[in-house]
Amino acid sequence: MVKIDPNRLMGDLKRLRSFGATGPGVVRLSLSPVDLAAREWLAARMTEAGLDARIDGVGTVFGRSRNSGPALLIGSHTDTQPTGGWLDGAMGVMYGLEIARALAENDATRHLAVDVASWIDEEGTFSGLLGSRSFVGDAVDESIRGATNRQGERLEDVLKAAGLAGRPRARFEAGRQVAYLEPHIEQGGRLEAIGKSIGVVTTIVGLREARLRFTGQRNHAGTTPMAIRRDAGAALVAFIARMNDAFKQLADADTVWTVGRINLDPGSMSVVPGAADMYLQFRDANTARLQAMDQRLAELVRDFNVQNAAQNAVSVELQTIDEPIEPVSMDATLAEHIARAAEALAPGQWLRMPSGAAHDAQVIARCMPACMMFVPSIGGVSHDFIEDTAEEHIVLGCQVAATAAASMLLEASAKRS
Ligand SMILES: [Zn+2]
Repeated sequence: MVKIDPNRLMGDLKRLRSFGATGPGVVRLSLSPVDLAAREWLAARMTEAGLDARIDGVGTVFGRSRNSGPALLIGSHTDTQPTGGWLDGAMGVMYGLEIARALAENDATRHLAVDVASWIDEEGTFSGLLGSRSFVGDAVDESIRGATNRQGERLEDVLKAAGLAGRPRARFEAGRQVAYLEPHIEQGGRLEAIGKSIGVVTTIVGLREARLRFTGQRNHAGTTPMAIRRDAGAALVAFIARMNDAFKQLADADTVWTVGRINLDPGSMSVVPGAADMYLQFRDANTARLQAMDQRLAELVRDFNVQNAAQNAVSVELQTIDEPIEPVSMDATLAEHIARAAEALAPGQWLRMPSGAAHDAQVIARCMPACMMFVPSIGGVSHDFIEDTAEEHIVLGCQVAATAAASMLLEASAKRS
């Protein structure tokens, strides 16, 4: 049985937290000076652990095992949101490092290869999921050319200034890396609510985004009788109520939809809004349900326009914002290794669940079987300074991941020989 060292794990996690610490949280935006310092530290820590470590041409820290394959790749991200927690991404990367060390210290697993990655810019400071997309061979130079952060700094310039531009980029090595494991905090409250310690991820949900533009007529808010108004704002609110009813008919317990932004034109107390925009996002683990929601939304828009054309009131136009993102299934065989490890170490204390958040694993799954596991987030909070997980869960999660990693690799080695 592979044994992780809880003190070493927690010590490294807390050291990483000190880069960009802001109260209990962390601000470590991709490629900021403090992020680059954290990457240098991480690469040095990987080297001490016996990995061949480097920061690649986009900023990903990659620690390659000196053992020959088959290799298990363990990764996540160490960049944060502008109001980041200390564990989002960071925990999975430190698990990878600790598991590489733990396997190397055990006679039965010393020969196994664990590669460890901290993918650059998962959080999208410049271009979301950049490191994992580069790793699987996407044409990321296009994304890099156009990318800027909120301050308007160009990614190309930042990579150059950091001395990273032109360095080789970590790439998927077919025939070597046979599986990807991404441990992560749940970032939701489900595990905590039912008192479980480990989530075995089945699917990373897909996502649709749309903008709906309502067009009416601006007018004086004092002199225009209600009966003849063409109020785009009121129409938008009525539409949302209808949409909520319609989506409830299609949803299961995991389906979510959000109107995250509403703009009224001109946005004045004394003007009946002449135009109103709403930004809608919905997510689900099931492609067929996402398509049904797409279709229902289009029907609602059509019905709305038919009804309102008669009264010459307000029209609505539906625009999709981005390419749809389809749900990505995690590999069932790998998930079984995690489930077995969880059952052995915490009997009855785990469950299978979808991931409502996006992760690098959905990109890496394009080139090799991928899996994810969760530990509980206290209060279900993430992307906030107060994000936290009980130390007992952090340690248990790493032991489960290490046990699963060893069994995945032993099985892969047996298959190969
Ligand atoms: Zn994350």
